[in-house]
Amino acid sequence: MSKYQEIYEALGISSQVLTYGEEILSSLTERFTRIDQVAEYNQLKVLQAMQQAKVSEACLMGTTGYGYNDRGRDTLEQVYANVFHTEDALVRPQITCGTHALALALLSNLRPGDELLSPVGKPYDTLEEVIGIRPSKGSLAEYGITYRQVDLLPDGSFDYEGIRASIQEKTKLITIQRSKGYQTRPTLSVKKIGELIAFMKKIKPDVICMVDNCYGEFVETIEPGDVGADMVVGSLIKNPGGGLAPTGGYIAGRRDCVENAAARLTSPGLAKEVGASLGMMGAFYQGLFLAPTVTAGALKGAIFAASLYEKLGFSVLPQGAEERHDIIQAITFGSPEGVIAFCQGIQAAAPVDSFVTPEPWDMPGYDSQVIMAAGAFVSGSSIELSADGPIKPPYAVYFQGGLTWQHAKFGILKSLQQLIKAGVVALP
Ligand SMILES: *Cc1c(COP(=O)(O)O)cnc(C)c1O
Repeated sequence: MSKYQEIYEALGISSQVLTYGEEILSSLTERFTRIDQVAEYNQLKVLQAMQQAKVSEACLMGTTGYGYNDRGRDTLEQVYANVFHTEDALVRPQITCGTHALALALLSNLRPGDELLSPVGKPYDTLEEVIGIRPSKGSLAEYGITYRQVDLLPDGSFDYEGIRASIQEKTKLITIQRSKGYQTRPTLSVKKIGELIAFMKKIKPDVICMVDNCYGEFVETIEPGDVGADMVVGSLIKNPGGGLAPTGGYIAGRRDCVENAAARLTSPGLAKEVGASLGMMGAFYQGLFLAPTVTAGALKGAIFAASLYEKLGFSVLPQGAEERHDIIQAITFGSPEGVIAFCQGIQAAAPVDSFVTPEPWDMPGYDSQVIMAAGAFVSGSSIELSADGPIKPPYAVYFQGGLTWQHAKFGILKSLQQLIKAGVVALP
């Protein structure tokens, strides 16, 4: 028995599962090389952004209190603007999560009487309450901001005619979600997002195009800011935090849009001038620096999982051979048992809390029970190896992350081992 087999076996992976995994992996060499090339480009892009902004040792210190003249914070915002090729950015630990960043971008740039349009179908679950699709305190609906949605066509393409018909005088902002989120539609490439933005702007040049960039950062060599997005929004405990950011969110975009967001996050008049960075700057900078390679590892994990479960006969989205535009992998098990066993396997592979067993629970913001596996250094971080699945048909799990490819690989093997144990899967 080789040293590798030995340590895998000691960690609960049978030689049969390991061999099955290795066979799948041998077909992925070329894919992985291309992912490394994207990471190389993005690594240099981030480095260039930092050098151009003249990041200095002093930037890594934090401020307290009001946070006036916080050089680290202001420089980091310049770095984000450089990376996303936007005029400005707001990058703050006071933005508590991705939903908060999106809500902030929307609530600060829309006014009563305006309409928000989603031309890519239903938005991410938590945004339903932000918009007021499901009534909630403080929603856009409460402020008299209406919402309209045009679903994607059955083949996943844009319903251009439907979109054209939905653009009104009062359509102020359109929201485009790059990632599929908890849905089984394709994730949008940046190029496709660019086509949609161009279409919208042709009809209504002053419409604000916002992209929910969650899980998409650094998957490609271009970002939505490169194809005309007015705001690019995301969470720092996903890709751009590189696993090191302990909290936070960002809005990169047009100067006036970012200014609106800052005025709402802090206060009119104070806007970007206040907001202590506390002790977070080191982690924000270093996390962003690592983000391209961390994202590459997560991407390899997603492709490995897709290829493996596809071969076992499960429906996966995207498919193993498909081009990637985010780090999420959906696998449909078709039964609660499959979803639960998969998540329990991922949990058992974690560096933190590997000994606990996740169970489905009523998570705030979601309309069904959800099971989540995450033994993360940063609580709830989904750039770390994690999986979650709503306990409702079609019983799909959404798998993502892995701070290193090696860990993602182990987690996937562990999930397979757990599915075998639960009797959901039998290896050929
Ligand atoms: C994660 C995510 C969000 C919400 O982010 P949270 O940090 O969980 O609040 C919004 N949209 C998409 C596509 C996401 O993946």
